[in-house]
This record gives sequence, C-alpha cells and structure tokens, in this order.
Amino acid sequence: MKKIAVFPGSFDPFTLGHEGIVLRGLSLFDEIIISVGANALKKNYYSLETRKAMISEVFRNEPRIKVDHYEGLTVDYCKRHGARYILRGLRTAADFEFERAIGQVNKTLSPEIESVFLLTVPEHTMINSSIIRDIIRSGGDASGFVPKAIKLEEYRGED
Ligand code: ADP
Repeated sequence: MKKIAVFPGSFDPFTLGHEGIVLRGLSLFDEIIISVGANALKKNYYSLETRKAMISEVFRNEPRIKVDHYEGLTVDYCKRHGARYILRGLRTAADFEFERAIGQVNKTLSPEIESVFLLTVPEHTMINSSIIRDIIRSGGDASGFVPKAIKLEEYRGED
C-alpha cells in the first residue's frame, strides 16, 4: 500500500524550513501532498492561489509531491486522499505544545492516521513565515529564507 502523507499548513509564504521537512519526508513516504489550509476566517498575506503557485514552482520536477488546498478537518482531507500520515515540523518547545494538542485531537478523531514530526535542522529553527512577511512588508530582502525557486519579487501580497 502506497504511503501517502499530507503536509498541511498556511505556508504564508513557504520557507526553507518547510522545504527541508518535505525533502526529508520523501525518504519516509511514497507521496507527499502539500496542502494549503484555506481558512476563510484567517487573513493571509499571500492569496491561496499565490501560495500554491510558489510551492508548485519549488517542486515542479518532483512527481512524488502534489500541491493542493483544503477546507475543513485535516483528518477528513487525509481520508479522502488515502493518506495515513500527517507530516509536521518542529522547531521549538512552543511548536511542540501546539503540535501536541492538534496531534492528540487528530489521533482521537481518527486513530488510524498517524502524525509524524520531524525536528528541523538547527539552521532552519529561526525561519518563521510571520517574520518573513514582516521583512517583505517592510521592503527588506527575505530571499535567503525561502527556496531559491521562489522569486519573491514576482508575487504580490494582499496588503
Ligand atoms: P500552520 O498555520 O499550520 O502552523 P505553517 O505554515 O506555519 O502552518 O507551518 C506548517 C508546518 O511547518 C508546521 O508543522 C510548522 O511547525 C512547520 N514549520 C514551520 N516553519 C518551520 C521551520 N522553519 N522548520 C521546520 N518546520 C517548520
């Protein structure tokens, strides 16, 4: 049976930290679906379509990675796509506490789906989408924090 993992997130924008987790996940799973959570209530800097376009650009030559979006519960999305794993990244103790709660709730909702956490490499610990957005909004150069394939100057934010 094909091992499919979903890597859910806001990816606003997708960073070197996210890329690192996905690339390492490729040695664990046959296919990874990077799925952008489309939460109508959450105000994002980059539109859903822009975020998906950026991620697709990064993995355009990797057939084992799909890019998608979803609304609703992550576990329901996993079931619809035959995914038995949720991939997440951990940087700090704060990430751990946040992920622990979501992971345990997901496990209660759907015991057959396993959450798999990869610890980020030390050099990616400081990389945070929200700080990157602040740099971009302030006109700074954030190119060193995102994959090379993402040319930030080609994308417009929403505010
Ligand atoms: P969410 O809104 O779901 O937290 P994010 O886009 O912020 O979405 O993060 C998606 C996943 O990537 C989360 O598991 C998060 O902990 C992880 N992540 C974010 N930044 C990094 C990083 N620099 N290194 C490793 N994992 C990261």
